[in-house]
Amino acid sequence: MTDQEISTQLQSIKKEALTALSHCDTLDLLENWKQAYLSRKSKFNDILKNLGKIGDVDTKKTIGELANTIKDELLKTFDEACTTLNAKFLNEQIQKEAIDVSLPGISYKPGHYHPLSQICQNIAQIFSSLGFEQVFGPEVETNYYNFDALNIDADHPARDEQDTFYTSIAPHVLLRSQTSTVQIRSMEKTRPPLKIISIGRVYRNEEINARKYPIFHQVEGLYVNSKVSFGQLKWTLQKFINAFFERDLKIRLRPDFFPFTEPSAEVDCECPFCDTKGCKTCGHKGWLEILGCGMVHPNVLKNVGENYQGYSGFAFGMGVERLAMIKYGIYDIRYFYNNDLRFIGQF
Ligand SMILES: [Zn+2]
Repeated sequence: MTDQEISTQLQSIKKEALTALSHCDTLDLLENWKQAYLSRKSKFNDILKNLGKIGDVDTKKTIGELANTIKDELLKTFDEACTTLNAKFLNEQIQKEAIDVSLPGISYKPGHYHPLSQICQNIAQIFSSLGFEQVFGPEVETNYYNFDALNIDADHPARDEQDTFYTSIAPHVLLRSQTSTVQIRSMEKTRPPLKIISIGRVYRNEEINARKYPIFHQVEGLYVNSKVSFGQLKWTLQKFINAFFERDLKIRLRPDFFPFTEPSAEVDCECPFCDTKGCKTCGHKGWLEILGCGMVHPNVLKNVGENYQGYSGFAFGMGVERLAMIKYGIYDIRYFYNNDLRFIGQF
């Protein structure tokens, strides 16, 4: 090859290399480019290797100088391309990670107690102001505390498996169907006088519908002292109803039967929705059935031992969900258990 031909070849490789370099838009492509045009295995290097075979010293010098100039130029252009690309990536990274401190923050709604918890707290506060101490008891109970000690006959239908959840732990172990169990446990531990309320979950083998759910909450109240009267019971319940509904609502007591109280009564309160005129909520009766109560049955006092002999007491029990449904005009108990934030968020 003549020096002219070699020179043309070098210029042609340079042109091709520069064009290829202008298309390298990633660092990987740049690296490949360097391998193709500037490494030992490149076409450019092949030509330089063959320079030794050229006999003419002047030609060798001229071509050598040209080759070095082109190589320097390619290296310089490559370095510039690397710098430009690195700067571009860095800029993009900065853009991506940049924090605009003037942007408004993401607002999260603060959580709050579940409506049932709020209502339980509210009920506890009201009874606390009436001198009742809040006590707690286990949700897994025995037949004795759930039925026997409360004077519930062995053949009472409430004991039936269709009404009560029995466990596989033992035949007499069940999920409590009422918070009255805590009455017995408290009386066993404490001498009279005793003035307690117990609020908690109870379980009944119910079919789920708008009014019934297998889990619900009950408030159980008990007052035992030397001379407790039915009048005190009525006064306590009236005070509670007025405080809970935040208005004066008359109550009325109708005779009823519960195994653990004698005499027993069902308590109605004036319908807060129609002021006793009659509406859909109260079934056009003007009154709403709200709780059961009575004077503690002598057998119950006898069951907890001699400490309670000669004493009298009253007890009452009510469903928390029912109270809440009346207070807030909720027509379906399932709202409390579906965990739908559209409902929960309203409280
Ligand atoms: Zn009504």
